[in-house]
Amino acid sequence: MDLRDSPEEAAFRAEVRQWLQDNLPEGWGTPAFKEPEDPEEHVKFLKEWQGKLASGGWAGINWPKEYGGRAVTVLQKIIFEEEYEAAYGPDMIHLAVGLDLVGPVLITAGEQWQKERFVGPCLKGEEIWCQGFSEPGAGSDLAALQTRGEIDGDELVINGQKIWTSFAHHADFCILVVRTNTEVKKHKGLTFVIVDMKSPGIEIRPLVEMTGHQWFNEVFFENVRVPLKNVVGGIDKGWGVVMETLNVERSSASQHSKLDAQIARLIKTAKAQGIDKDPLFRQELARTVTDSMVLKMTAYRNASAFIKSGESGPEGSIIKLFWADVDQRFKNQIVNAMGPAGLALEGDPAAADQGYWQHQLLWSKASSIYAGTSEIQRNIIATRVLGLPR
Ligand SMILES: Cc1cc2nc3c(=O)[nH]c(=O)nc-3n(C[C@H](O)[C@H](O)[C@H](O)COP(=O)(O)OP(=O)(O)OC[C@H]3O[C@@H](n4cnc5c(N)ncnc54)[C@H](O)[C@@H]3O)c2cc1C
Repeated sequence: MDLRDSPEEAAFRAEVRQWLQDNLPEGWGTPAFKEPEDPEEHVKFLKEWQGKLASGGWAGINWPKEYGGRAVTVLQKIIFEEEYEAAYGPDMIHLAVGLDLVGPVLITAGEQWQKERFVGPCLKGEEIWCQGFSEPGAGSDLAALQTRGEIDGDELVINGQKIWTSFAHHADFCILVVRTNTEVKKHKGLTFVIVDMKSPGIEIRPLVEMTGHQWFNEVFFENVRVPLKNVVGGIDKGWGVVMETLNVERSSASQHSKLDAQIARLIKTAKAQGIDKDPLFRQELARTVTDSMVLKMTAYRNASAFIKSGESGPEGSIIKLFWADVDQRFKNQIVNAMGPAGLALEGDPAAADQGYWQHQLLWSKASSIYAGTSEIQRNIIATRVLGLPR
């Protein structure tokens, strides 16, 4: 495999770089530019930026053209993400469920009216989505979920509770998985449905993370009535749509881009903190640079396999597992190397890089949990990559 950009890829890379340079908000990337702190204002800022990406033709770039995408190749998608991270483009996490999960899943599995109604607004960042999968008794073993959906006329009546629902408090809609049949094997009785978060009977209770931020929620459903036409994939046929969603969620191929951008930022912080000559710090930095290259090569190898077979395999689990490990070790070591300045909280004048690394350290604990824990990734690699027995 030739790892250099082809002339077409080099031209594409230059185009992305130029567009970002011309369009990122005024002052972006300088200490003077601050994203809004108020959560509502922040979401508004991200929606506006997504609208700008969409009008420039840089949203959902791997989606088919008929849905507003550019139908770019897997490698072009990686190139876009490399350039976006290198420019420290805004983190679009609040819009990620809509953009990264709902759009692609509806394009594959949605009814025609669902595609027409929801896919465009996902692309333009006009509506926020949340993902109502996990429950107090069902995370890794998602098929054990208990939230009930009972058919009543042409509606589904929903009762139960979800947990860890990121951004439910900002969301317009939710992709919800409910149990519609208790008489069959657990994964055969599930239904995947689109729920309007303004429906009567929904209560959202915030959960504050150890970072001090509030992303997660518990979401309670009491006799919430949802039109049957909102079901995706058919009654009791939700498991296939869930698997499609999780495959899309785990297939992110550009973790190395984010890591490279953080390494570049870290070098600046290290110089400012006077630890850039510290041998232990340098050793950790070199190790992380090497790990990032390993991630990049694995992503390119997966992309190449995808181009040949047209299918994304379980190798995405290797990237997810390795990246979670690198992310946590890297953040831990560098905050140690920074000493008290690394541990000082955001807003503390003594904090290195305005508390960015302290926040990153705490946040890195999530890497081995979301989108399938590291133990679950190991199970997938064992059975589906190495062919070991369950
Ligand atoms: C940042 C973040 C965002 C999230 N956002 C959402 C969201 O928007 N919507 C949503 O629905 N969920 C969300 N989640 C929840 C996430 O999907 C679950 O936390 C995850 O699936 C694990 O489930 P659990 O927490 O119930 O842990 P459990 O499944 O109870 O696991 C507990 C421990 O047991 C281990 N374990 C479980 N089963 C096995 C097994 N078969 N073999 C070996 N070890 C096993 C796990 O690895 C883990 O260490 C989010 C989580 C995080 C961290």
